[in-house]
Amino acid sequence: MRPYREEVVVSAYADRLEALAADAADRCTGCAKCFEACPTARESGMDMGQGKARVAELIALTRQASATAEGLQQWLNACDGSAQCNAACPEDINVRQWVTIAKMKSVEAKRPLGDSAKVAATRFRNMAQAVRLMASMQLPSETLRKILQPAERRTADVLFYTGCNVLRTPHIVLNVMDILDAMDLDFDVVGGTAHCCGVYQFQEADLPTYEKTGHRTFKRFGQSGASKVLTWCPTCTKNFDELERDVAAPSFGLDHISEFLAAHIDELKKDFVDQPKRRVVIHEHQGIGATVESIRTLMRAVPNLELVELPQDSGFSYACGGQAAKFKGREQAIHRALAEGAIAAGADTIVTMYHSCHRALAGAEAVYPSLKVVNFTDIIAEALGRGGHPDFYRLYKTGGPMDEAVAAARTFLTSNGVKVDEASMQSLTAEIFNETGLAGGREAFAKAFTDLARSH
Ligand code: SF4
Ligand code: SF4
Repeated sequence: MRPYREEVVVSAYADRLEALAADAADRCTGCAKCFEACPTARESGMDMGQGKARVAELIALTRQASATAEGLQQWLNACDGSAQCNAACPEDINVRQWVTIAKMKSVEAKRPLGDSAKVAATRFRNMAQAVRLMASMQLPSETLRKILQPAERRTADVLFYTGCNVLRTPHIVLNVMDILDAMDLDFDVVGGTAHCCGVYQFQEADLPTYEKTGHRTFKRFGQSGASKVLTWCPTCTKNFDELERDVAAPSFGLDHISEFLAAHIDELKKDFVDQPKRRVVIHEHQGIGATVESIRTLMRAVPNLELVELPQDSGFSYACGGQAAKFKGREQAIHRALAEGAIAAGADTIVTMYHSCHRALAGAEAVYPSLKVVNFTDIIAEALGRGGHPDFYRLYKTGGPMDEAVAAARTFLTSNGVKVDEASMQSLTAEIFNETGLAGGREAFAKAFTDLARSH
């Protein structure tokens, strides 16, 4: 049983999580290879020779519900979910999952549930406001409505689950819809904040609310009767893999969209049309299933596309931003090295895997004019003779003329019945431009969109 907070009614879900952590502790031999492989423990300046002590503390926290030891707390705080520990473990333990549960438990032991619920709600509200505003600036109301329809009411065999944050760069969602359309699949698209994966509630140890959000979202997929759910967001994918699928086997298959497309590459290739010559570098992140290999497979199949292999720091985090944003300097160094390495290797295009990486790199052209940044879904949709959806986020971040982005935002905001004011535009400017990454200045966006707010 979970002895941390007396006010928490222990649920069957919480008990199953506990069992996963207990199983990891039972199988662990204490060799410390996981800690020694941890890039963020090293980046945080921890003593890498003390791995056995850190693992012993992790086992104690799991078995005895002891207070989190200081050294272990540093490790938990540093973790950004890279999964390098999983790859290093000779016992094939999902150490990232174990550390994720331990992080939640250490927060749970230190903070009353009411405080955790408030922190989680604030984080969720801030994210949801930004996502709703950005989606309303870039998507017509009929598309947004389609995405937000309750999952359990869908009848399609395949659900493409977007998560929340990709709606800041919705051309990616439109690309995937084009690709699945081209495959003639019986699919439906589902996402938005009403189908949140519950990451904030879990991280902030508000398990009762997590069970009503992320855990419920996963159950709603099952209620729809779909045989397959395709994920987009790496965080949703990681959470659903580790905190849901491993807790109770679902009635549907779960794949990242890149894995699904790579598995159908022969079918896709038949419909590929001639493409311009390109030399492409993928901005790679290890840590989420077979996504890197899958995106390489997809790129290699595109006519006239030459994939340039570039050694890169792909093991530091499973995606840009999120928990990895704690290491801003390291992220900046990764982005610069990628762009400069790509130019030195004669590449003209950087391909992003995920939406957070796309946001980080979308403005690279302002700093490195010879480089174009596109998402892998841009390339596949275009190879199928579809796609071509404007990437307004790239326009925001490069800091050039905003006329096209403002004109689109004016139309879409009206279609979605959303009013904007100067204050929301100021906070959106900060939200967009304070992220780590390569970008032009914020002035063009701030001015154009403040003017829009004044005249809207
Ligand atoms: S997931 Fe990555 S950052 Fe977290 S403990 Fe494992 S190796 Fe370290
Ligand atoms: S690498 Fe695996 S077996 Fe070794 S200490 Fe870490 S979790 Fe335990």
